Amino acid sequence: MKRFCIHTITTKPLIIEECLIEFPKRGVTGITIWRQALEGREWTDVRRQAADAGLDVVSLCRGGFFPAKTAADRQTAIDDNLKAIEQAHALGAPLIVLVCGAVPGQSLVESRKQITDGIAAVLPAAEQAGVKLAIEPLHPMYADDRSAVNTMRQAHEICDALGSPTSVGIAVDVYHVWWDPELKQQIDLAGKTGRLHAFHICDWRTPTMDLLNDRGLMGEGCINIREISDWVDAAGFTGHREVEIFSDRLWATDQRRFLDQIASSYTSLYQS
Ligand code: ZN
Repeated sequence: MKRFCIHTITTKPLIIEECLIEFPKRGVTGITIWRQALEGREWTDVRRQAADAGLDVVSLCRGGFFPAKTAADRQTAIDDNLKAIEQAHALGAPLIVLVCGAVPGQSLVESRKQITDGIAAVLPAAEQAGVKLAIEPLHPMYADDRSAVNTMRQAHEICDALGSPTSVGIAVDVYHVWWDPELKQQIDLAGKTGRLHAFHICDWRTPTMDLLNDRGLMGEGCINIREISDWVDAAGFTGHREVEIFSDRLWATDQRRFLDQIASSYTSLYQS
């Protein structure tokens, strides 16, 4: 289970101190920390507590949301990303996942330009801190307000436009990209270009009742998770497989029992 990671948002009702106790009991070895879980805590304390619990801090979620209507608002976003870089550095998180953002009514082309400019603006600080950035393409249903980057191809194009720095790569989340006919080819390219920075898993439920908060536990839906996972591994990825589930339905259940279900679902996918 050495690659088994869970996001704190997956068990949102648990505070981070509870995650640090409960995750390792199920064989979890990595934790991705959402910034809201840090509220009121010293970042370096959380780093120590995670290490004491035997958990690698895999990444910090999330940075991004670069596009905005005004230059002042774009600067606010850049400042927030600089703060995220400080947090990641203090936590010992090697990576920040970027949900890149979009502005309803603004063209996606313009939003992608602002995303590229925003990443360029924070890149020196990220490199200085030794923190990598991962562009996470989001499913096209979020194109109007959460991310103008909706395919791996577009994420590659932004990496190219930035001059292909080694510190900027891609987070592959099966929920967002499983439908893409180019997926395997784009994963192969990400492997070749050193851009495979993270791998997120959950499942797609039919019907989906809520665009944001109705993700499924692996096995509850239609995504070919194991096949995509094999493509990612074949492309050279050796990092954690991160269970990231937003679900009002599952958050309403007993979170310790839910963690047991996650572990059982993970084990039946990977047997290791
Ligand atoms: Zn994700």
